[in-house]
Amino acid sequence: MDITRVRIVVNDYNELVNLMLNCTKCRLHETRKHVVPGEGPLNARIMLIGEAPGETEDEEGRPFVGAAGQLLTKLLSNVGIRREDVYITNVVKCRPPNNRDPEPDEIEACKPYLVTQILMIKPQIIVCLGRHSAREVLMMAGYPERSVSSISSIRGKVFNVKIGDVNAKVLPTYHPAAALYNPRLRSIIEDDLRKVKELLNNLGRSGGGILDYI
Ligand code: URA
Ligand code: SF4
Repeated sequence: MDITRVRIVVNDYNELVNLMLNCTKCRLHETRKHVVPGEGPLNARIMLIGEAPGETEDEEGRPFVGAAGQLLTKLLSNVGIRREDVYITNVVKCRPPNNRDPEPDEIEACKPYLVTQILMIKPQIIVCLGRHSAREVLMMAGYPERSVSSISSIRGKVFNVKIGDVNAKVLPTYHPAAALYNPRLRSIIEDDLRKVKELLNNLGRSGGGILDYI
C-alpha cells in the first residue's frame, strides 16, 4: 500500500492542527486532557518523533515537556542542536491512560496525521525516539517488520527513506525516557544526536519544506 494514500487533504497546517485538536477517531480521546499535535518550525530540517504524550504533555498540550523532554532538550543542546529549530511530534497525539503502550488500532487511527506532518514539513532527517517510533516510520517507508524489531540493533544507523515526495534520512535512537532510568543510554543518545548534527552539516540546505505549502 502506498502510505501517502492516507494523507489528510488540508489547505494548510493550521487546518491539520484543528483536525487533531478535535479528533475522536480512537478511544484515547475519551481520557485525554489535551491533544498534543506537535510543535516546531514548519520548515524544520530535523523532525523528532516520540511515542505518545505523557502526563505533563497531556496537561500542557505540548510534546516532550516533562522529565524525558527536559533530558531530550539538554542532549540536543549538548550537541549543538537548538530545540527551537526542530519539529517534534509523537506517533499518537493523545496520552494513553497510565502511560501504557499505544494499541495497534490507536496507532493506525492516528497515522494519517503523522504521514501528513511528514509530507508537509519535508524533513531532511527524521530522528525516531524509541522502538515504536522507529517501527512505524520505517514500516511506513516500506521496510519489513523483521528489520525493525529491536531498537538496540538499529539505533545509530541511517536509513534512507522515501515517503511520498519526501526523501529523508531516518536515524533511530533510544527513547529519552529510557535514559532517565538508565544513565548509560544518555551518552548513546547524545552520540546518535551528534551524528544527526554531522549529517545535517553534510547535507546542506536543500528542498522546500512547508514554506511552499502555506
Ligand atoms: N514521551 C514521548 O514519547 N513523547 C512525549 O511527548 C513525551 C514523552
Ligand atoms: Fe485522534 Fe490520534 Fe488522539 Fe486517537 S490518538 S483521538 S487518532 S488524535
